[in-house]
Formats: sequence, C-alpha cells, structure tokens
Amino acid sequence: MDALWHPNCFRCHACNEPITELEFSMVSNCPYHKTCYKKLYHPKCDVCKDFIPANRTGLIEYRAHPFWGQKYCPTHEYDSTPRCCSCERVESKDVQYISLEDKRKLCLECLHTSIMDTGECQPLYHEIRDFFEGMQMKIKQEIPMLLVERQALNEAVESERDGQHHMPETRGLCLSEEQTVNTIFKRPRIVAGNRFIDMRIGPTKLTRHCEVTAILVLYGLPRLLTGSILAHELMHAWLRLNGFRNLLPEVEEGICQVIAHMWLESEVMAGSSNSSSSKKSKAPRTPADKKLGEFFLHQIANDSSPIYGSGFRAGHSSMMQYGLKRTLDHIKYTGRFP
Ligand SMILES: [Zn+2]
Ligand SMILES: [Zn+2]
Ligand SMILES: [Zn+2]
Ligand SMILES: [Zn+2]
Repeated sequence: MDALWHPNCFRCHACNEPITELEFSMVSNCPYHKTCYKKLYHPKCDVCKDFIPANRTGLIEYRAHPFWGQKYCPTHEYDSTPRCCSCERVESKDVQYISLEDKRKLCLECLHTSIMDTGECQPLYHEIRDFFEGMQMKIKQEIPMLLVERQALNEAVESERDGQHHMPETRGLCLSEEQTVNTIFKRPRIVAGNRFIDMRIGPTKLTRHCEVTAILVLYGLPRLLTGSILAHELMHAWLRLNGFRNLLPEVEEGICQVIAHMWLESEVMAGSSNSSSSKKSKAPRTPADKKLGEFFLHQIANDSSPIYGSGFRAGHSSMMQYGLKRTLDHIKYTGRFP
C-alpha cells in the first residue's frame, strides 16, 4: 500500500477504531485489524464453535455436509464426536444427543418423532399398507412387522439365505426364513444424561405363512425415515408375493427405493399444503420435520451405492417415463428397467 494515511483516518473497516499495529489485513482496499478480519472472514466450526484451524500448508480446510451445510473441522470425523444415526448431523458443543441402548446417537430433531416400539409403529405400518393399496398394489397377506435393535437386526440379516443386498448400515429387513427374533415390546425411558433405559425386549417366534415371514425395522428412527424403510421392505414383500423372481440387486433394491421415495415425497408434500381436507393427520407439521423429509429424499436420490443409488436413479427415470405399472410389468417379464 503506497498511499499515505493520516493516522487518525487509518481506521479498521469493521470496528472503526484506529489501526496502530504494524500488521493488519487489507480487503478490497479497506484496512482491518487482524483480529477483526479473523472475526469477519475466518470460518467457524459448527461443532466446536472455534475458528477452523489452518492446515500445515496454511490453508483453512473444513468439511461441509452436502445437504445441511454444517461445516466443521476435519478432525471431528475421527475424534469420536457423535453423529446422528438418522440425519448425519454432527453433535455440536451446545446440544447433547440422545444415546440409544444399542449405542446409536440420535439428535433432538430426529428424536422428536422417533418411533420406539413395535406397538407405536403399527399405525404407521397401516398407513404404508394403505399407500400400497392406493397404488393398486394391495398386500392381502397379514405380514407381522416388528421393531428391533441393531444387533437383532444384524443377526436376522445373517441368518437369511436369500442373498438380499444390504446397505452398510442395515435399517430394515424383509424376512422369508422362520426365525426367533428379539423385538422391542416397550419403549425405553429417557433418564439424566440423555440416555435411554428400561426398554423391554423379548423373543418372538416367527412362523411362515406365505412367501414373507415378517418385516423387521430398526427402532428409534424418526417417523419419516421409519416409514420410508417400511415402504422399501414392503415393496420387497410385494415383489415376492407377486412372483418377481431372481431380480438383479440393482433392479430389486432400485425399485424398492423408488417406492420409499414416492411415499416420502407424498408425505413432504402433504406437510406443505395447508388444506384441512388432508386426511394425513400425521404428515410432517413443523418446518424441521419437513426439512428432515427433504434430507431423506436427498439421501435416496444422491446415494453413491451402485445398487441402491444407481438402481434408484434408473428406476426413477423409468417410472417418470412409463409410469409405475408399465415399469413393474417390464421388470416382471424382462428382469430389467424399461
Ligand atoms: Zn477493528
Ligand atoms: Zn471444530
Ligand atoms: Zn438427526
Ligand atoms: Zn432392500
């Protein structure tokens, strides 16, 4: 800077106090105190609330969630900072997440509508079955639906021999073997320290009456996520009960994700219309619930998995072009998307 300044006029553009230090920052020809500059322009971490430190090469590097925009120090990826098992947001210094008994963490927004036991999930299960009926895909068989802990779900996945593909973290299962599964009879209570206790679990013997023995879903997830898992698993059931055999994993999982996405979309849209005629009394009511629904939609649509993600995108574009019925007919006779 070559210009000469009267000391009194050489003031910080942020706080308007004179700058007396020899070191200062210039931004578009305006001087700033170094500290004022940092306050204004240095990104802060949404998790620890500190300034995000520069790395060894002097660059400020941070992680940002593609949907929530939450930005944080890269170190929080490994320093065991809790992350919500449902929405992926990282726990910040000023809120404490809830610990589920199987060690998963849940943020307070996801907790708000979370479904904790098998009985509590029945109305939602009926809503999803009605959704299938509304698409002329009524499932006549009574298929038991049970909420389970993570370990019980993983054990059930391992004893199934059908070769279904599963996401890295399995959240639901359409069972076709006979098994005894530990299910959640009674929801846990929250105690001090944001922990859950007192959950009642017991073995349930599942016998097979049709192609599908039962549907298992991970407990503790918010209503919209639980519903989309139910829709996905019920679609597996529907395919089996309707003679779809030996589909390629990306076709089967893809079309199941298409149905999950359709249900979520209908819920998110029902939540945004103010019409009192809407029968869906439980549609997302708060803007936070709606945003969560949009996140689950985003997650399905942008999944990088070649089976779930690419399968969904192929199935979705077929459905947009030919409609659901023609897409399903085509899958039945050719095993692929039209
Ligand atoms: Zn200043
Ligand atoms: Zn941080
Ligand atoms: Zn969450
Ligand atoms: Zn599946």
